Amino acid sequence: MITRFAPSLTGYLHLGHVLHMLYVWGVARRFDARVLCRIEDHDRSRARPEYETAVFQTLEWLGFIPDLGIISADEKPSDFRQSDNAGYYQSVLEELQRRGLVYGCGCTRKQIAETQPDGAEELCYSGTCAEKGLPLEGHTVRFRTPAKETVFEDLKLGKQCQLPWLQCGDFSLRDRQGQWTYQFACVCDDIRHGVDLVIRGEDILFSTARQIQLFQTLEAAPPRHYHHPLIYDAAGTKLSKRQRSESITQLRESGIAPEAVIGRALREAGLSPTDTPVTAEQAIHKYII
Ligand code: GLU
Repeated sequence: MITRFAPSLTGYLHLGHVLHMLYVWGVARRFDARVLCRIEDHDRSRARPEYETAVFQTLEWLGFIPDLGIISADEKPSDFRQSDNAGYYQSVLEELQRRGLVYGCGCTRKQIAETQPDGAEELCYSGTCAEKGLPLEGHTVRFRTPAKETVFEDLKLGKQCQLPWLQCGDFSLRDRQGQWTYQFACVCDDIRHGVDLVIRGEDILFSTARQIQLFQTLEAAPPRHYHHPLIYDAAGTKLSKRQRSESITQLRESGIAPEAVIGRALREAGLSPTDTPVTAEQAIHKYII
């Protein structure tokens, strides 16, 4: 089996990512899967080269060694860096276009927000532009989401039932500036890289049915999924790179040992009562497998 560690390049990695690495490498061990590393820098407005360099430094410093994929920021171009593979995403999009499964949408976020019921958790697109025949270039490209529920068995959370067409409607594959979205680039890559086990945080659980629908539309077998718990901060919100959580790069530069960082991630996740320093290998055996 093949799983992947696929960080977005929206900031420096933080303690939540250390927990994620423990799950990826630990659950991979349990399933005898190899770990592929991929750089998800589809969001060109936020990606920065120093974030990419920091990903590889952090992995090496903490002792997480990928079996496949990209292992250095010097690999240019790489099949495992999304910004190097626009031609591939374009060819998949053209296939969907030939099959009439995508359309151009001219609605702004504000216009969509105005049509939402009070208290809606997520913007749900009602399909205003679905039959307008707008060109894909210069418009948001939307996928015609099938009106059906998707059921899957999560390896951690059990049976899940999601209805994307009611949660988000026809979701986007590319924005009006031509940037590929996470949902689309991630599925294209998981297919091309032969990923059959996806291990990721439970904050992305809602994306899974959308991705499964794309896999099925592209006639690829969807991977198995394992969604793990996250680290929440004192206010109960998840740690996020964008909220300027303390980065691993800062911790490393402050002289702290990698084992101490792993110990801290385990305690903050509630997996260990203390933040006793441990190596990645010890942590995986004691807390994840
Ligand atoms: N690039 C995504 C992130 O960093 C990966 C999500 C996934 O594993 O599918 O959140």
